[in-house]
Amino acid sequence: VKICRTVEEMAAYSRQNRSSGEKLGLVPTMGALHDGHMSLVKHSVADNDTTVVSIFVNPTQFAPDEDLDEYPRDLVADSAKLEEAGVDCLFLPEPNTMYPEGYKTYVIQEELPDALCGASRPGHFRGVLTVVLKLFNIVMPSDSYFGRKDYQQSVVIQQMVTDLDLPVHIHVLPVIREADGLAMSSRNRYLSLQERTDALCLYRSLCAGRDIIGGGETSAAAVTREMSRILEGTASSRVDYLAVVEPDTLKDVSCIERPVVLAAAVYIGNVRLIDNLSAGPRI
Ligand code: AMP
Repeated sequence: VKICRTVEEMAAYSRQNRSSGEKLGLVPTMGALHDGHMSLVKHSVADNDTTVVSIFVNPTQFAPDEDLDEYPRDLVADSAKLEEAGVDCLFLPEPNTMYPEGYKTYVIQEELPDALCGASRPGHFRGVLTVVLKLFNIVMPSDSYFGRKDYQQSVVIQQMVTDLDLPVHIHVLPVIREADGLAMSSRNRYLSLQERTDALCLYRSLCAGRDIIGGGETSAAAVTREMSRILEGTASSRVDYLAVVEPDTLKDVSCIERPVVLAAAVYIGNVRLIDNLSAGPRI
């Protein structure tokens, strides 16, 4: 895998590899790669002439009291996985490469970032959109790959691409789960053995919500009540939010008459986990 560490190096590599209209896929990540990331990578490798993966733990999307410093980093294992998957280039910028002294410009989006994770993490999506736009400008991909695991992130990024006429095609791929249903996440490695067992309550509560909607329940309040009931059965869990939202606008739904997204963020001990499921009313 070719490694680029500077903006100039990365942009030159992309220009070379897209000179006669070749397709270039970008998979932005924060590293500590697992099979969820690798599913995006495999799609990109299959669909494009060249695949670039970026690993950058983006400081602007972490609040001062969040886990930026403890965020897992594992470059040796990550490089081996990318090599094996046939990735062409790894973009590995340092924070001061992306945000040199005197940096002043950020991407602000209205409404969508105010919901769900954005409500509990103010400024998070400003950081996400800023870094993703910078990565698009540096890497110049024809296609870029994101996971549905971060559902709100995929919606705000697609909105930015549409609003700013960015010449990149966004692909949003399904959540990859452990055998028992827990969504794969770099943060799962913070969980103790007991917490790893407890963490399953998140997926179980989403499934229960989906099932009662499928069974005819149309009240979102009743759905979130049932989800809370399941989470309360796990002592180490603490709900950040539970929501039933419209898939495109992320607005809260009260009466479920169309397909919705059930989205949740739950702390297991000190680890904040997010997950979501689509659900549809019985027709
Ligand atoms: P991260 O490294 O957490 O920033 O994630 C990088 C990309 O991988 C994002 O587009 C995530 O949505 C995606 N991703 C993370 N976990 C999963 C998963 N379990 N299944 C599918 N995609 C995922």
